[in-house]
Amino acid sequence: MIRLRGVSKAFGAVRALDGLDLDVREGEFFCLLGPSGAGKTTTLKTVAGLEVPDAGTVELDGKDQRGVEPYDRGVAMCFESYALYPHKSVYDNLAFPLRSPRHRLPASRARERIGEVAELLGIAGLLDRSVGQLSNGQRQRVALGRVLVRPARAFLLDEPLSHLDAKLRQQMRAELKAIGSVRRTTTLYVTHDSVEALALGDRIGVIRDGRIVQTGTREEIWYRPHDTEVARAFGRPRINLLPGTVTPGGGFRSADGAVELDLGARAAPGTDVLVGARPRDLALGEGPGHTLTGTVYVTEVLGRSVEVTVRLGAQHVALVVPRGEAAGLRPDDPVRLSVRPENLLLFEADRPERPG
Ligand code: ATP
Repeated sequence: MIRLRGVSKAFGAVRALDGLDLDVREGEFFCLLGPSGAGKTTTLKTVAGLEVPDAGTVELDGKDQRGVEPYDRGVAMCFESYALYPHKSVYDNLAFPLRSPRHRLPASRARERIGEVAELLGIAGLLDRSVGQLSNGQRQRVALGRVLVRPARAFLLDEPLSHLDAKLRQQMRAELKAIGSVRRTTTLYVTHDSVEALALGDRIGVIRDGRIVQTGTREEIWYRPHDTEVARAFGRPRINLLPGTVTPGGGFRSADGAVELDLGARAAPGTDVLVGARPRDLALGEGPGHTLTGTVYVTEVLGRSVEVTVRLGAQHVALVVPRGEAAGLRPDDPVRLSVRPENLLLFEADRPERPG
């Protein structure tokens, strides 16, 4: 439904987009994830027609949008910095987009739609209040509501939950997901929060330096990250990455010689590699797969689980285990760790993509 090909956009010397390709399918909830400055907002604006690309094409429903004005594109966009009418009521703010000649609905239909959106966003009780009296979180919900009331062929949402506190954000995430699955309106959703992307996205596109590095379902991104940066972007605590080389027998030896793993030759001997293991894929004690020996460095309680950092030679490796299993562990205690071979990721060090 949304297709970008080779889109580039520079602002002076800054290359915001650099040959970006993107495909968002009809009805899907697509999350565009990337760090600050990666080009997320510029991508949305390019789709909306608020920025004109220097090169490349933007298609909506198979039609090239070159020369098509933003209001003729049929997409509804919500910015991080939202503009509401502070002296008007929540209802009037929500009704405003439906008064434009383009989206005008019969009054009863408009009321119905506003009621439905207000209900979904938990602001039905605030419709008569003036926007000026609302908290930031409530305002953000009204701003989002203003986008969602419009009949649009796609929603473009730019960090719409960024001003909410953690609890409200989680609640709104669930609501947005529900809206997405009920309405089935194509949604392109920008975020720098990987938890949000994993929670919401039918598919996720990872953007870096104005290009899409990887597109996939959450499983694909999680289990087959394109490179170490993508692997590090998802999951807290972060994935452990151990530098080392491939041995003549096809195994792995860490740079300090302290860790040896029998990997089954997935890369040529002598290759510099990084082995990745997520903290929740490591277990304390001997188990099926590889067992490693180290000493406890530090433990930190994370609610019902505990993050244990273990020293393996010169490396520190983090694992997350149920609280009961870490009870009584003290710094410098010897420990064994186990990891299943299928949970290890291998990255080539100088060419950070996964070899296979
Ligand atoms: P953030 O998460 O911080 O909003 P982003 O991924 O949305 O970041 P963009 O806003 O798309 O990134 O910006 C990409 C790059 O282009 C940045 O370096 C930004 O400073 C620059 N840029 C964006 N818009 C303009 C503009 N109108 N004028 C000059 N530079 C701009």
